[in-house]
Amino acid sequence: MHELRKDILLGGWIAVLADSMGPSEYPGSYAQTDETSCILCPGREDETPHEITSIKKPGSKKWWVRALPSFNPVFQVEGDLGRRGLGIYDKMNSVGANEILVESPDHSVRPEDMGLEQMIRVITLYRNRISDLEKDSRLRYILIYKNSGKEAGDTFSHPHSLLMATPVIPKLVKDELDNAKQYFAYKERCVFCDIISEELRLGERVIFESKHFAAFCPYAAQFPFECWIIPKRHSCAFQEILGEEIEDLGFIFMMILKKLRKTLDNPPFNYFIHTAPNMVPRRNHWHTLGEDFHWHIEIMPRLTRTSGFEWGSGFFILPTSPENAAKYLREVG
Ligand SMILES: [Zn+2]
Ligand SMILES: [Zn+2]
Ligand SMILES: [Zn+2]
Repeated sequence: MHELRKDILLGGWIAVLADSMGPSEYPGSYAQTDETSCILCPGREDETPHEITSIKKPGSKKWWVRALPSFNPVFQVEGDLGRRGLGIYDKMNSVGANEILVESPDHSVRPEDMGLEQMIRVITLYRNRISDLEKDSRLRYILIYKNSGKEAGDTFSHPHSLLMATPVIPKLVKDELDNAKQYFAYKERCVFCDIISEELRLGERVIFESKHFAAFCPYAAQFPFECWIIPKRHSCAFQEILGEEIEDLGFIFMMILKKLRKTLDNPPFNYFIHTAPNMVPRRNHWHTLGEDFHWHIEIMPRLTRTSGFEWGSGFFILPTSPENAAKYLREVG
């Protein structure tokens, strides 16, 4: 089993894989998946790990979207947490889940081109997987994310997103939760709701506003052309999204991805959903969580390389201001 170790200085956790790789095993350059033998394409279902769930075409065995266990999971569903100390250090077993969320049977379609109906199925699959996994009391956090393009860590050329369920709340999420909690304790308002009303009032960083969502470049973005999509209705947990909101999210999500592609000539990107940690087994682990956190999607085009300065300081340099980035994205058709 892989092992989780806690960083005693920064408080985050890392995973150490059980089979240590030798230096020569790291690819010098990215190995592209062979397009002619894609294991995520329809027809090769027998060769993948057993499907967890899928949304099928009505009256057919053919799937629209499906969730599979990862081929090389870092986190494993079986076993207990085995929390223990080792001298001054903390560790535990890497209990959790890794899933591949296949977004389409069509190998070459891009998310922004798959059409609203299909995008709704993808978002519905995201919601269903979080709703299912939050029942497991060993799991504290479920992160859904996408890597698009090799510079963004993409490993399959077939359209897919990924899911990681972890037995600890990841450090970055914890920091966001803690800051939101402090803001709420001080002002008795959700910081994200305040951000939305401020951004919509100013308008200069807004890319698009729909009935239920706002998309904007954050004031202190870490990456140029970083975009957030956030629901206007206060809600801490993504899985509480309503049917009408799923449709609206599908629309605005595809629009923003199209705008990024057009403005930046098909950039590699990552996106992820930040939602509340699992609350089912500890509904009241802090009583304001439902009020002080607000789920959102962050989209990060990978345009610059992270340098020693960013790694060493956590201080990011933006070559394009969020105001200008939003202007470019608003203007592109
Ligand atoms: Zn494929
Ligand atoms: Zn809010
Ligand atoms: Zn966030």
